[in-house]
Amino acid sequence: RFGAADAAAWIRRAAELVAADADRLTRLDAEIGDGDHGLNLNRGFAAAVEALPDGAALHETPPGRILIAAGRAIVSKTGGASGPLYGTALRRAGKALGDASDASAEQLAGALAAALTGIRELGEADVGDKTMVDALTPAVAAFDAASGQGAGAAARAAATAAEEGAESTVPLVARKGRASYLGERAAGHLDPGAASTVLLFRALADVTA
Ligand code: ADP
Ligand code: MG
Ligand code: MG
Repeated sequence: RFGAADAAAWIRRAAELVAADADRLTRLDAEIGDGDHGLNLNRGFAAAVEALPDGAALHETPPGRILIAAGRAIVSKTGGASGPLYGTALRRAGKALGDASDASAEQLAGALAAALTGIRELGEADVGDKTMVDALTPAVAAFDAASGQGAGAAARAAATAAEEGAESTVPLVARKGRASYLGERAAGHLDPGAASTVLLFRALADVTA
């Protein structure tokens, strides 16, 4: 089951993977955006790690509360479109988990679905618009489909689906975000937000393994 230590470990691992790939994310964004995606997320996830409770406080904090605090930190510290989107996603996931001391894989699937709904409400992007939604949508569906096999198997399936979803953005013309200003010139490039979504699911797979 997914408890406070798992929620905190997820945020820490996501921050590590984002830091390790920040230059690549920024390079991808330089190709079709304004070249700050890695910078933005690195700052946001560092703030999220700072906001994590530690020691005894960690084990008294429900995992939902940990995700809400991380999301709030990301919203307040991250510039660009991605900060409010990922921050809202984590807050919605946390709210969906409520104040339970831990969550089943099925409940985690519900929380991820709530995160996706939050991103879609805020950004109004559909699958095929060349955004993070293209990676997140199949990942959330794959997590749900595999949740009967436990959170670890579900997260691995989700990470694979996110990778495929991210790859699917390469030929697309963007209809949302800065890349949409480029028209046809955005085609042939991987969407940076879809690439960072892959990292968040890899982080979840790492900590639930
Ligand atoms: P900005 O473009 O404001 O500099 P970032 O570079 O941090 O913000 O994030 C860019 C990423 O945000 C894009 O690659 C895309 O995946 C995602 N994005 C942008 N606009 C939207 C939107 N309306 N809905 C969903 N995702 C979006
Ligand atoms: Mg940018
Ligand atoms: Mg920017």
